[in-house]
Amino acid sequence: MKILLDDLLVQKIITGKYQIRSLDLNVANIIKEPINIAYSFVLEDEYVDINISTSGNLYLNCDRCMDEYAYKIDLYENLSLGLKEFGTEYDVDEEARHYIILSFPLKLTCKTDCKGLCPKCGKNQNTTPCTCKNEIFNPKFEKLKSIKF
Ligand SMILES: [Zn+2]
Ligand SMILES: [Zn+2]
Repeated sequence: MKILLDDLLVQKIITGKYQIRSLDLNVANIIKEPINIAYSFVLEDEYVDINISTSGNLYLNCDRCMDEYAYKIDLYENLSLGLKEFGTEYDVDEEARHYIILSFPLKLTCKTDCKGLCPKCGKNQNTTPCTCKNEIFNPKFEKLKSIKF
């Protein structure tokens, strides 16, 4: 969705809402549900007052266990742009995309205490805990074993 300066100069206020089904995000995600975007552009004397709210669910893959999980977004952005900065048109999708990326935490995990995959057998430790932990080779114990009393 693009807001044109020409339209804004005539209408002074442009508001609306729409849904998008694809966002070019640099993470492996599938947009299964549309993302809702609502916007308002208000032309003041020398600048444009912009409000954009973005909400919905993104489906991401957990960095630790690889499982897909819903990442809820509910973002609200308010900014003012000078007419020069605004340019001839303003891309709302691009701004929403940018804002969503900025909202991501450093690590995308399904939950804060995700146990991840077992490095040995690859099982998901959240759903199918394995016993590999007890079998991890420990050279210290091996040495002890070989000592004969
Ligand atoms: Zn996880
Ligand atoms: Zn295991």
